[in-house]
Amino acid sequence: MLVVQKYGGTSVGTLERIESVASRVAKARDEGKDLVIVVSAMSGETNKLIEYAHYFSSNPSKREMDMLLSSGERVTAALLAIALNEMGHSAIALTGRQAGITTDNTHTYARIETIETSRLKTEINNGNIVIVAGFQGINKNGEVTTLGRGGSDLSAVALAGALNADACEIYSDVDGIYTTDPRIEPKAKKLDVISYEEMLELSSLGAKVLQNRSVELAKKMGVKIVAKSSFSDNDGTVITELDKQGDNMEEVLVSGVALDRNQARVSLRGVTDRPGIAAEIFSKLANENINVDMIIQNASENKTTNLGFTVPQNEIEDAKKVINSFDHDIESADYDESVVKVSIVGVGMKSHSGVAATAFSALAKSGINIEMISTSEIKVSMIIDEKYGELAVRVLHEVYGLDK
Ligand code: ASP
Ligand code: MG
Repeated sequence: MLVVQKYGGTSVGTLERIESVASRVAKARDEGKDLVIVVSAMSGETNKLIEYAHYFSSNPSKREMDMLLSSGERVTAALLAIALNEMGHSAIALTGRQAGITTDNTHTYARIETIETSRLKTEINNGNIVIVAGFQGINKNGEVTTLGRGGSDLSAVALAGALNADACEIYSDVDGIYTTDPRIEPKAKKLDVISYEEMLELSSLGAKVLQNRSVELAKKMGVKIVAKSSFSDNDGTVITELDKQGDNMEEVLVSGVALDRNQARVSLRGVTDRPGIAAEIFSKLANENINVDMIIQNASENKTTNLGFTVPQNEIEDAKKVINSFDHDIESADYDESVVKVSIVGVGMKSHSGVAATAFSALAKSGINIEMISTSEIKVSMIIDEKYGELAVRVLHEVYGLDK
């Protein structure tokens, strides 16, 4: 049995923590498992290195940033190997390059292209626990690259996929994925299993647990992820393919409730109603890398129409600039940053109607006005006044029985 385990920054945040990870790894080894261990930099280390670079330059070369940032993971990998050796286990630390990870040329945000597994397999066959420095690879020109923040998750999933591992265990300081944020609803329950699709939609709940790109890759490669805590022996949450979840999953309509506070609403009035105007506005927003989420266009009157949409709050100033450049096509614009998006997510709602209506009436009963709605096969999102955000989460959590 081959298992890939990944330990995040907090799990290896101090020398004592690395020692306790070493014990955990040693235990899995004693159970007879072949192991590839992927590590992050010690917590805070990557940020510290970025600050160091900014002492010299506000815009350091991305190639040199990759040289710099890749060192954090290397430190942890070597220390963990040393700790394991000291416990009497043979372990070897490898850089991304030595582990055979080749990426494209995009420094600081590289994509993994191939993994050449022969070295890894040789080390495993020689009885070694293989420790791989996460978050890094090498491009075709032999330059070191990194995979974007949180990229060690991606390294772990990619290695698990390439090695056809039985599981990819991702350890952090949280013991799994919850039905909602327990700080908002203390009755939130840890989920035993969740599909890749739901996990991606609930990323605001799981962002601290798993990097989104790694979930996408796991889905693509069919890698089963287990999100666990390195601070406890709790079971964690399995993230896997839908149809592997068993029949009773169909009964569960909603798996979780997410709250996204980083939302702002843009309302445009008196927009010239001619073919192409929406295309112009939204392509210009896209060109400025503004992520438009929900869009509503009203039926037009007197050759003008009203258009509403949401953008991440931190992109609102950029959005204003774009909108101002349309001054002869837009009569007036107003911006509301005091909104949040609350979403219910669940694969079960695919085959059931009325799930959304339940949400709408639950919010109505609590006197919460819904300003915008969008739906997909497995998600219903609603824009509401931010002062009702947490109340809405609790109301929805209850109405779908998630506390049971
Ligand atoms: N050390 C990198 C970061 O902080 C990668 C990781 O931890 O996954 O983003
Ligand atoms: Mg991390």
